[in-house]
Amino acid sequence: MGDEKPQTVLCSIIAVETTNDFSYLVCSLCEKPLPNPLSLCKFCNRNSFNSSSASKRLFRLLVSIASDTRVFRVICFDRAAKVLFGCSANEFFDFAKLHPFAATNAGKILEGEMCRMTLAKPKNGNAEHLRVTSVVPLSSGFQPVIQSLKELYGVH
Ligand SMILES: [Zn+2]
Repeated sequence: MGDEKPQTVLCSIIAVETTNDFSYLVCSLCEKPLPNPLSLCKFCNRNSFNSSSASKRLFRLLVSIASDTRVFRVICFDRAAKVLFGCSANEFFDFAKLHPFAATNAGKILEGEMCRMTLAKPKNGNAEHLRVTSVVPLSSGFQPVIQSLKELYGVH
């Protein structure tokens, strides 16, 4: 069981998968995944007060990292991803809609970033990737991705 404890690693980010603009849709009330922005949440539906469930996005990043001993892929959910992005997944999604290649550029911005990550085994035993429970960028010059993107695209 000793292997089940979260581990902290020093690593550098070598790639970030840009599928889906780094995020997925959830019900804004219970945060269960939704297939599309117009679908009603199956979980909240029972509550009659909520006839029109609203959606929002949460980050889900698949990141390849290199520690001193190996390269592996980890999954980074909303709380940790916000540290890197400096904004909500909705904000990033809206930014990416208006700015072509924002996701690709965000990935490039993060490449090579040195971080201290705390990794935990997935709660779901079937999930294949370790989960990032916290991330601390180590570079003194680190600025959140959204900041770098705004500079890149000349947005103020
Ligand atoms: Zn719901």
